[in-house]
Formats: sequence, C-alpha cells, structure tokens
Amino acid sequence: MAQVKHHVACMPSPGMGHLIPHVELAKQLVLRHDISVTFLVPTIGPPSKAITSVLQGLPEHINHVLLPPVNFEEDVKAEIQIVLAIKRSLSSVRDVFKSLVASTHLMALVVDPFGTDVFDVAREFYVPSYLYFLTNALSLSLLHYMPKLDEVISCEVRDMEQPLKLPGFTIPIHGRDFPDPLQDRKNDAYRFMIQIRKRYSLADGILINTFMELEPGVIKALQEEPSMRSIYPIGPIIRTVSDGELVDGSESHQCMCIRWLDNQASGSVLFVSFGSGGTLSYDQLEELALGLELSEQQFLWVVKSPDDKSASGSFFDVHSKTDPFGFLPTGFLDRTKEQGLVVPSWAPQVEVLGHPSTGGFLTHCGWNSTLESIVHGVPLIAWPLYAEQRLNAVILSEDLNVALRPPEYENGLIKREEIAKVIKGLMHGEDGVIIRDRMNRLKDAAAAAVSDGGSSTKTLSQLVHKWKNQN
Ligand code: UDP
Repeated sequence: MAQVKHHVACMPSPGMGHLIPHVELAKQLVLRHDISVTFLVPTIGPPSKAITSVLQGLPEHINHVLLPPVNFEEDVKAEIQIVLAIKRSLSSVRDVFKSLVASTHLMALVVDPFGTDVFDVAREFYVPSYLYFLTNALSLSLLHYMPKLDEVISCEVRDMEQPLKLPGFTIPIHGRDFPDPLQDRKNDAYRFMIQIRKRYSLADGILINTFMELEPGVIKALQEEPSMRSIYPIGPIIRTVSDGELVDGSESHQCMCIRWLDNQASGSVLFVSFGSGGTLSYDQLEELALGLELSEQQFLWVVKSPDDKSASGSFFDVHSKTDPFGFLPTGFLDRTKEQGLVVPSWAPQVEVLGHPSTGGFLTHCGWNSTLESIVHGVPLIAWPLYAEQRLNAVILSEDLNVALRPPEYENGLIKREEIAKVIKGLMHGEDGVIIRDRMNRLKDAAAAAVSDGGSSTKTLSQLVHKWKNQN
C-alpha cells in the first residue's frame, strides 16, 4: 500500500500580505521536507485577481480549498473583518478537516495571528496547532506584554509617560509606535488584539518570520519566557519571484518595470511603494510627487489612488480605484518622464529589489517588504502607514540602522523638502553609505540563516522532525 504523505494544513487570514508568507513556508515544507500542504483560504467577497493568481500558481503537492466568501454588510475595521471572516468560516473548515484527516497523515495546522479560532477545530481532530507569526519577534513580544499593560494603564498607549522597555530590545518604544489596533482602547479592534494574544498560549508552538541574527536579544528573551510556547525563528521566508504577476491582467506591465530598470545606471533608482494596501492622502501624495521631482533622483513609483479616510484603503483590493494618474500634480508626469517611471497599483517587487539598478527603497515597512529588502541588501527610507509598520520602522531606523526616516509634521504630513532631503541622503549622502554597508552585512546574515546548516534552516528541520515523530 502506498504510504500516506505527511501533511500540513495552512490557513492564512484574508489579504495578500498574509497569504504570501504561508505559501513560501509551504514551498519549503514540500521541497525540503517531503511534506504536502493544503491551504484553506477564507475570502471576504470574491477573491482578488492577485490572490487567484497566487493560488493558481501553487506548485505540486500544495492544494488549496477556497472557503465560501464571507460578506460584510456592517462597516467594520479591516482587523475585525479578518477575524470575523475566520470565525464565520469555521464550519467549512471543519468539513475540510474531516476529509484531510480521512485521506492524509495530518500532522499540524498552521495559522497566522488572526486565525487562532481555528485551533478549536484542530483540537476536535487531535491535530496540533501552530501559530505562524508573520512579522517580527518584537511585535510578538509587545503583544505578549499587552494584557499586563492593559491592566496597569488608564490612558491611551500614545499618552503613556514612559516608553515601554521590552526584554531583549535596547530601545524603549513609544506608545505612538505601537500597532494601530492598540491605539484606541475603546475600539473593538483593541479588545480583539488582547483576546487574540490570550489565545496564543493555546498554540503548540510559534513560528516567526525572522532570524536569530536579526533580532537576537528579543528572540532569546521570548525563548526564555516561561509562559511562552516553543519559539521557532525560521525566516527570512520571502518570495524568490513575484507571484500575482498578472494582477493588472497584462504581463507587459510587469516587464515594463524591468525593461525600464535595465536602462538605468547601477544603484541609481529609488523604488517607491507602500505595499498591497497602503494609500496616501491627496495632500501627502502631492508632497511625495513634488519631493521626488525635487530630489532629481531616478525613481520607480507604484502609485495608488489617494484616500483621505484610510491609510489602508486598498488592503483587500490592490488596484487603484479610479484613473491611476488623474490625481498627480499637473504636469508631473511630463516633467519627470526622463527621471522616473510611475506604474499603477502593482510592480514585480521582488524582481525590482533584486535588480542591479535599484539602489534604495522608500517603503511602508510592511514586514514582507522589509525582509525582501534585507535579502536583496537594499537600504531603506522608512515611511510607515498603518498596522505594525511604525514598530517595524523603529527596528529598521533605530535598532538596525538600515533606514532613514523623514520627520513628520504635527498633522502627520511629510513635506516635499524633507522628502527630497532624505532621498538625497540615502542615495548620495554619508548616512546613505553607512546604511548601505549595514544593509549589506544584514543581507549576508540573512543568506547564512537560510543556507544549509544556518540557524533558521536548523530550526525548521527540528520542528518538522518533531511533527513527524509525534504520536
Ligand atoms: N508587492 C508586490 N508589488 C507591489 C506591492 C507589493 O509584489 O506593487 C508584494 C511585496 O513584494 C510583498 C507583499 O506584496 O511581498 C506586501 O507585503 P508587506 O508585508 O510588505 O505589506 P502589506 O501589503 O501586507 O502591507
């Protein structure tokens, strides 16, 4: 009788930023450890083109099941939509589990921080549950500490008199740099985060997309924390080629970016992108356009329609909502046609970061973008917008010193002169040289961590060994 393959179920919460790291982890399990994987994919409304493209491109031994879409009539925040989409998908998850347990040797369930409700289903089937923490160890440490902090403070975290010192991290963190959902104690999203954090202790272990050499102090402190389950730093897990190439329906759009880069001088281009969901206000977008122009630096800018209401305006839909360029300052495209390329909505980021012409990245500091920059040794300008991006910016600009961060004015606006100054500083200044050098060293450390015998490779092997040898 053919041997039943070792199997893992992965359930990422909705959104490309959640799906991609799960897919990359699954590829490692398949290629390095002879495991097959099934993705349970919860959806809010119909799946986007980007998600569909990723799922259709999954390699052999990785299957997926699209769970019935959850629709929202009520107006709820993105974080809550994500958690509710999972909760409302549980009965379909149970059906998939039934068939997986009957047909495979299901060793583990892996979910991200919003998916801990699925632990209950896994337990019904005696399948161990693992949390895949998609950002860094510092965010996990902060979240771990939150219930305690919640008990002792009465104000909003941004009004705390003292910044918070977390074990193993040298820089005290200001409340204003805490992740968004923790900024408003009266909001449901805050309560959800505290509840989610309490459910972490139900996990049999926590995988983190970081590596020992990136966050040694914080990882060690977490591993020594008695109330914490086993911690597995297994990163950087990133894409080696861009998925979702056909997001805009045309391959030529993707090729255009690379062709344009091919014609630029080595290290001369600043890549500007705010991830899959990041949007700027009208005023900020205008300042950025004029700042880029003022810097006289070559640039490749992925631009999205501005949104005055929300910095995560396109989280579930990576496409610009209206005319992709109609909102740019008058004459901007014409004046900068020799200086830069502006593309709507989406660019093949991994290829762009790996291209020799790319010399810097103005980023919203999403964790995938951060790791992709580290792997390719591209120094950064940190421009966080939402979620845990401000915390990531602190790590990048104050702890690792691989990013410059432009100052914000009281109304949160970053002015064109500051933008031009920070771009020149990164691409040509003395600070830029130091930052580039540090980023290159980090690049080498990242490569070592995932090489044969590297820290992250060993950690993942230990975990798989545990899975394969459990009863
Ligand atoms: N991405 C891309 N092209 C784009 C924008 C984003 O390929 O134009 C990819 C990027 O390479 C990364 C992911 O989408 O892998 C974004 O994840 P991240 O955690 O950086 O930010 P999020 O989109 O979740 O805010």
